Amino acid sequence: MKPLDLNRLRNDIYGPGDDNYGRDPLPWKKKDMKTKKPEMDLCVSCGIETEYPKHAHIDYRFHYVEGAGQLCKECYDKIYKVKDD
Ligand SMILES: [Zn+2]
Repeated sequence: MKPLDLNRLRNDIYGPGDDNYGRDPLPWKKKDMKTKKPEMDLCVSCGIETEYPKHAHIDYRFHYVEGAGQLCKECYDKIYKVKDD
């Protein structure tokens, strides 16, 4: 009996190269997704829309400050002086 090929099975269901399907916290960013874009959280500092929906768990977010809220990358970098390199 052939062992179950999980990659093959997954490809059959989701299509090839879609490794993060179901694990991606931001699935609406995929171009062929039917998921509707939810209401997004705003940067608590400058007010621009961040890439995180209001219901997104903070464990999945970058630039989230507990006790303060969601920041955009620019504000976060400004406040915490994080260098890219
Ligand atoms: Zn900001």
